[in-house]
Amino acid sequence: MNHPIVIVGAGIVGASIAWNLARRGKSVLILDQTGIGKGATARSFGWINANFAETPAYFALRSAAIDAHHEMEAALGPVATRWCGCLWWEDVGAAFDAHAAELAAFGYAAQVVAKPEIARMASALARPPERAIHVAREGGADGEVIAARLTEAAVALGAKVWIGPKVTSLLRQDVRVIGVATDHGPVPASRVIIAAGAGAAALTSLPMANKPGLILRTRPLSPFLGPIIMAPDVHFRQDVEGRIVAGEIFSGDGPGQASITTDPGALADELVRRIQAHLPDQKIEIELVTLGQRPVPKDGLPAVGLLEDGLYLASMHSGITLAPLIGTLVAQEIAEGRHSSELAPFRPTRFSQRLENILGG
Ligand SMILES: Cc1cc2nc3c(=O)[nH]c(=O)nc-3n(C[C@H](O)[C@H](O)[C@H](O)COP(=O)(O)OP(=O)(O)OC[C@H]3O[C@@H](n4cnc5c(N)ncnc54)[C@H](O)[C@@H]3O)c2cc1C
Repeated sequence: MNHPIVIVGAGIVGASIAWNLARRGKSVLILDQTGIGKGATARSFGWINANFAETPAYFALRSAAIDAHHEMEAALGPVATRWCGCLWWEDVGAAFDAHAAELAAFGYAAQVVAKPEIARMASALARPPERAIHVAREGGADGEVIAARLTEAAVALGAKVWIGPKVTSLLRQDVRVIGVATDHGPVPASRVIIAAGAGAAALTSLPMANKPGLILRTRPLSPFLGPIIMAPDVHFRQDVEGRIVAGEIFSGDGPGQASITTDPGALADELVRRIQAHLPDQKIEIELVTLGQRPVPKDGLPAVGLLEDGLYLASMHSGITLAPLIGTLVAQEIAEGRHSSELAPFRPTRFSQRLENILGG
C-alpha cells in the first residue's frame, strides 16, 4: 500500500511544502495539533525582507524568496500581502552606515534616504529621522492567511489535513522512518517532513534557541501609512484591513524582552505609547495581542533537508519571508530528485557534522 508523505505542521512552511508537493502529483497528509497557521505563523510581524542575512548564501535565499512570493501570488491570487516597501532606522551612526554598506555589498535594492524624502513617504510620522534605508521591494504579509490559502490549494489537489493529533514520536523500521506516533494512534508514511516550527526540537535532534515575541494589532484605521516602519523603539506596519501590526524590536533581544514572558500586558501598553508618539494623529487602540515562539535553529540559519532515511526537516525563523521558496525547493528535491544548491548551506546535518568534527578532534 502506498502511504502518503506526512507533513507535521500546518504553518506557512508546512502548507507551502504541501501545496508544492500536491502540485507535483504527490499524495500528502498534513497533521497539526492546533490548526492551520495557528503557530508562529499567526503571531508573526510578517515583514517579507532580505534586510538581515548573516551570510551571502542566506542573503541570496531571502532575496529569491521575495520573488517566490510574487510567483505564489500569481498562482493563488492575492493573499493579503501589502507590497509597500520599508523604511529602516533601528540603528544610527556607525551601525547604520555598516548596515547600509553591507546591503550595498550584497547588491540589495536599498537606498539611503534623507529626512525630506522620509517625510514624503510616511507623512504621518511625527518625528521622521535624519536618514533611513528604504527598500521598495519589501512587504508585509499575514502568514495565517497565506497558510490557509496554501492549504486550501493543496486540498483542492487531493492533499488531506488532520487537525488535532499531536505527533509524539517517529516510527522506525530498522534505520528508516516509516511514520509517526500520535496521541490518536500511529500514522504510516512514505516519508515524514517535520515542519513543526518551534516544536521541531521535541521531535528531532535539531538544536534550537527559540525566542518569544509579542505582536499587537490595533483596531482598523483608514489607510494612511505607506511603508513598514522599523524605528529603534518599535516596528509597525498597516495591514490590508487598516490595522497597525506592531512589535518591539525585530531580533527579540531588546530591553523589553523580559516583560514578554513576565508582563506582556505592560509591554503591549508600552508599545501603544511608542506607536502613538510616532503617530500622534491616529487613535491607537489594541484589538489583539499575540505571544509567539520564533522557531530558531541554534545558529540562526534555516535548517532544511534530509535528517535521516525517510525523515526531512524544514525549520526556520523568517518563515513568512522564506516559505514560498522553501516549499518549492523542498518539493523539487523530494518529488523530482532535484538537489537544491540554494539549500546546500542550510542542511540540518551541519549540527551533527560539527559535533562529529569536534569529537573526532
Ligand atoms: C513575534 C514574531 C515575529 C516574527 N516576525 C517575522 C517577520 O517579520 N518576518 C518573517 O519572515 N518571519 C517572522 N517571524 C518568524 C515566522 O513567523 C516563522 O519563522 C514562521 O511562522 C514559521 O512557520 P512554521 O510553519 O515553520 O511554524 P509554525 O507556524 O509555528 O507552525 C508549526 C505548526 O506545527 C504544529 N506542531 C508543532 N509540533 C507539533 C506536534 N508535535 N504535533 C502536531 N503538530 C505540531 C503547530 O501546531 C504549528 O501549527 C516572526 C515570529 C514571531 C513569533
